Amino acid sequence: MKFNYPVLAHPEKCQHCKTCMKACPLSAIIDIDPRFKVDISKCKTRIDCFYCVMNCKSGALTLKQTDAEGNVNISKQ
Ligand code: SF4
Ligand code: SF4
Repeated sequence: MKFNYPVLAHPEKCQHCKTCMKACPLSAIIDIDPRFKVDISKCKTRIDCFYCVMNCKSGALTLKQTDAEGNVNISKQ
C-alpha cells in the first residue's frame, strides 16, 4: 500500500523552527538536528497525510511516496 512521507529535500532552506515536528499528529518526525529523522512506520498509518510538508513555510520539505508495496525507493530520496 502506498503512503506519503517527508524528506528534507532542501536542507539549506530549513530554519530549524520545528514547525513540522509540531504539525505531525503522530510525532513521526523524531528530530531535525543534527539530521532530519522520520519514523515512516507512523506515516504508513496515515495514507494521505502531508501536514508536515504543508506546514513547512520555507519549502525545505518534500513529500515522497512509497512504491505500491510500501517500500521506500532510496535512489529517489
Ligand atoms: S518546518 Fe521546515 S523549516 Fe521548520 S524545521 Fe521543519 S523542515 Fe525546517
Ligand atoms: S506525513 Fe503525516 S504522519 Fe508522516 S511525518 Fe508528515 S505529518 Fe507526520
